[in-house]
Amino acid sequence: MPRPITATIDVSALAHNLEVARAHAPHAKVFAVIKANAYGHGLLRAAQALRAADGFAVVEFDAAVRLREAGFAQRILLLEGFFDGREMAEGAARRIAAVVHRRGQIAMLGGLPAGARLDVLLKVNSGMNRLGFAPEEFRGAYAALQDCPGVGKVTLMTHFADADAARGVDWQMETFERAAAGIAAPRSLANSAATLRHPQTHFDWVRPGIMLYGSSPFAEVPAAALGLRPAMTLRSEIIAVCELRPGDTVGYGGLFRAERPMRIGIVACGYADGYPRHAPNGTPVRVGDRLSGTVGRVSMDKLCVDISTLPGAGVGTPVVLWGEGNPVDDVAQAAGTVGYELLCALAARVPVIEQS
Ligand SMILES: *Cc1c(COP(=O)(O)O)cnc(C)c1O
Repeated sequence: MPRPITATIDVSALAHNLEVARAHAPHAKVFAVIKANAYGHGLLRAAQALRAADGFAVVEFDAAVRLREAGFAQRILLLEGFFDGREMAEGAARRIAAVVHRRGQIAMLGGLPAGARLDVLLKVNSGMNRLGFAPEEFRGAYAALQDCPGVGKVTLMTHFADADAARGVDWQMETFERAAAGIAAPRSLANSAATLRHPQTHFDWVRPGIMLYGSSPFAEVPAAALGLRPAMTLRSEIIAVCELRPGDTVGYGGLFRAERPMRIGIVACGYADGYPRHAPNGTPVRVGDRLSGTVGRVSMDKLCVDISTLPGAGVGTPVVLWGEGNPVDDVAQAAGTVGYELLCALAARVPVIEQS
């Protein structure tokens, strides 16, 4: 039998979660965000499951090309735009749309032949302070794009910093509206959090990512309460059992010390599989049909779980590191991170099983 770790990707959950996004933004088109290998779920697998989307958004040029080569005819958007003239020329030939967020990219687009008809999303920095034109430069950038003969449709976009939290979106919406006043063009603003919570941001195109994978963008709202289903379940098994005496420590650095006799299960999953090394004692792990927690430091290939109160657990007992019955958001919260980081970190050595 092979090493027992697997990641199951439930493609029907991806399709279901896209429908949840559509139900929240029924009048908008959807760019399904499938950057970073579809948040660890597999680019082409996710695109196939999400083929009802109106478009796909990625960061990696080669991902955009692979989508076209696989026959996806929807809009494909590069969220950081083109990085050089070669990408731009090939992107134009393959009808790949690009975010334009700084002057140098407009200069590059100026070199396109008139027949190129390359679609762009012109980005304003409305407060995230990462990518985008300053609000007072936005109009000038729009005008400069109008002078590029090879540019096709222009959509106005921005990105929210706090759509999931108390500060919300209105402060950025005001800046966006000021920058875009009088420009008659379609708009794309909303990430998952804004798609779910801020209908005034929906406009023409929404850009949900994390929700498609069944993880909640909100720290205080579980994914299940949003009607989302987890797409990825990381499973393994207990491959050994250790009996601890009071005072025994577990793993590197002796991060956990037993105060009473304990039984622990050693699970074939470590940070080289994508499990967070910084997960503290007590990070939730489902063992069989019960929830338990990690003990000791996560190592490269193994982690340990308390099975003292699970007399039926032993070698071969199935474990869910995250996914069904153990939400990735709970594991992330315990480990001081977000579901995004865990899903994206799934390691290449973990065999993936597709489930429908
Ligand atoms: C990643 C990304 C998204 C999707 O964000 P989620 O929080 O995963 O929904 C949307 N827009 C842009 C520009 C992004 O980079």
